[in-house]
Parts: sequence; structure tokens; C-alpha cells
Amino acid sequence: MANSEFEYVRKFEEWDALAPSNWIVVRIDGRGFSKFSKRQNFAKPNDRRAIDLMNAAAIEVVKQFTDIVIAYGQSDEYSFVLHEDCQLFERRAAKLATSISTAFSVEYCMQWGKFFEGQELERPFPTFDGRCVLYPKKSILRDYLSWRQADCHVNNLYNTTFWNMVKGNPDTDTPAMTTTEAELALKGTFSADKNEILFKRFNINYNAEGEVWKKGSVVYRKYEDKPSATESTPEQAFGKSSDEKKKPLSKTQMEKERKRKQKARVVVEHVDIIKDKFWQENPWILG
Ligand code: ATP
Ligand code: ATP
Ligand code: MG
Ligand code: MG
Ligand code: MG
Ligand code: MG
Ligand code: MG
Repeated sequence: MANSEFEYVRKFEEWDALAPSNWIVVRIDGRGFSKFSKRQNFAKPNDRRAIDLMNAAAIEVVKQFTDIVIAYGQSDEYSFVLHEDCQLFERRAAKLATSISTAFSVEYCMQWGKFFEGQELERPFPTFDGRCVLYPKKSILRDYLSWRQADCHVNNLYNTTFWNMVKGNPDTDTPAMTTTEAELALKGTFSADKNEILFKRFNINYNAEGEVWKKGSVVYRKYEDKPSATESTPEQAFGKSSDEKKKPLSKTQMEKERKRKQKARVVVEHVDIIKDKFWQENPWILG
């Protein structure tokens, strides 16, 4: 392209490549979903259609971006983990965050009708912001994912208790509260208190609540054959051993790996990712 006298303005752009050898998390979050969920009459505290739609959008994003090794979602957010060796868009932060969040937003809107049948999606259409966060070690990345899953559990216990208090329960003579009253009543309570409120006033055993609400959703590739190029030992998957030097893959190896990933089945499960078990069973995810 011919240079013009205006070309110099390009120099005002900032180069925002993320540091190498770090795990990249792109976390997306729905804009104004407290309002949006009211406007679209989501069931409270948990609307199954809404979470199924989030998961369907996430699956498509994982399929489109083979650099994503695992994704974790709850409520109106999803965290997409890109491998530490990822070279997509030269690791430019804005490119990564905007490409993933727009891909997710488009999938969410385009698939809306499949999950909310007969319910029209109106302007302003739902959108998701996105940010990149770097984690220099597998163990810290594991802690990040544990943080999100622990957050899911804490929020879900709170929301389940809160919305039951707002509904009330005539069977146990528990009157319905206003949202302000319920909020006040729950101030300063511990998990054990909420479990007891649920059990005594609402006959709900929190442990028996759906895993999808307690654990959130984990999206990853399931291979029929075990991966070879990216295979790692369980110790490496733990993120507790020192980082071993890995040979970089050749171009043909990388292309083969990409094709294999495209063929793999992308699954969504509501499982614990805080304990070691999941990572021991799937050591290649962070391989
Ligand atoms: P922001 O734009 O800052 O993210 P927000 O209103 O989206 O604002 P969040 O903290 O992201 O704030 O909260 C998301 C809200 O979306 C929750 O408070 C919850 O009410 C609602 N929500 C998300 N998923 C569901 C669901 N499956 N069922 C019911 N409500 C949901
Ligand atoms: P990147 O993902 O890096 O942006 P790209 O393929 O989108 O890659 P761009 O430099 O953004 O690269 O180029 C946009 C391309 O889109 C142009 O090369 C042109 O071929 C095509 N294009 C855009 N608008 C039109 C249009 N109105 N009619 C025909 N082609 C168009
Ligand atoms: Mg590292
Ligand atoms: Mg939000
Ligand atoms: Mg949120
Ligand atoms: Mg372009
Ligand atoms: Mg362009």
C-alpha cells in the first residue's frame, strides 16, 4: 500500500502484545444482565434456558478458537483459557478479547430463539465485554479457575436462599419477604446459616440442588484417542512441578494438532475443577 502523508498517525497506536509463556484468560461478562434478565423474565434465581444458551455460545467459541484449551462459565460470565504457547493474533490483547467477546455475543443472539422459543429478543441486544488476564504459572491458573468456581457456589447458595425468602413457604408458615427484607435478613450470615434456613423453612437440602447451579459449566475437548503432541504427566497437569522445557512444535505438527482439535468433541460438564481429580483424569488439557 502506498504511503500517504497521513501514515504517521499509525504510530499513535499502541502495541499490546501479551507477555509470552503466560496462560491467557479471556473473561467475558454480560452487560447489564441484572436488568436484561428481568426484562426477559428469567426465572429466579436460576433460569435453565439462559444457562443452556450461555453454554451453547461457549461451545461454538471453543470450536472456533482452537487455542482455547478449556472454558469455565457461571451466571452471565465465561472464562476462556488460551494455552501459554498461544500465538493467535501475535498475542495482541485487544484483538483476543474483542474477537472472543464478539464471537460469543453473536452466538448468544443468533441462538436465542432456540432456547427462548417464541420470546423475541429486543433492543438493546445483549452484548458481552471481554478482558485478558495473564497467569504466569499453571498453579495460579488453577487457582483462578478455583476462584470462579468457588464464587459460583457462594453466589448460588446466597441467591437460592434469597429468592426462597422472597417467595415464602406457607407449609412452614414462612411469610414472603420483600427483596429489601431478605437482603437485610441475610446480611452477615454464614454458609451454615443459609443451609439451615433452606432446610428448616423451605425443606430444601442444598446439597441436592443441581450440579449445574452449584458447580457451573466446564467446556473442553474430549478426544477418542489420547493426544500425543500435547500429552503431559499428571504432575505437570497439577501445575505443581517446575515448568519443564518443551520443544516448540513445527508448522506441520501445529497444523496437525489444529485439525485434531477441530475433530474432537466439545463437551460441557458440571464438575468440580478445584480438586485435583478432574486435572488428573484430563492431564492433556493444560499439557
Ligand atoms: P455488569 O454490566 O456490570 O456486568 P450486570 O447486571 O450484568 O452488570 P453481574 O454481576 O454480571 O451484573 O450479574 C449478572 C446478573 O445476571 C445476575 O445478578 C443475575 O441476576 C443475572 N443472571 C445471569 N444468569 C442468570 C440465570 N441463568 N438465571 C437468572 N438470572 C441470571
Ligand atoms: P484481519 O482479521 O487481520 O482484519 P482481514 O482479512 O479482515 O484480516 P483487513 O485488512 O481488515 O484484513 O481487510 C478487509 C478485507 O475485507 C479487504 O481486503 C477486502 O477484501 C474485504 N472487504 C471489506 N469491505 C469490503 C467491501 N465493501 N466489498 C468487498 N470487499 C470488502
Ligand atoms: Mg510459564
Ligand atoms: Mg454482567
Ligand atoms: Mg457477571
Ligand atoms: Mg479485518
Ligand atoms: Mg480492515
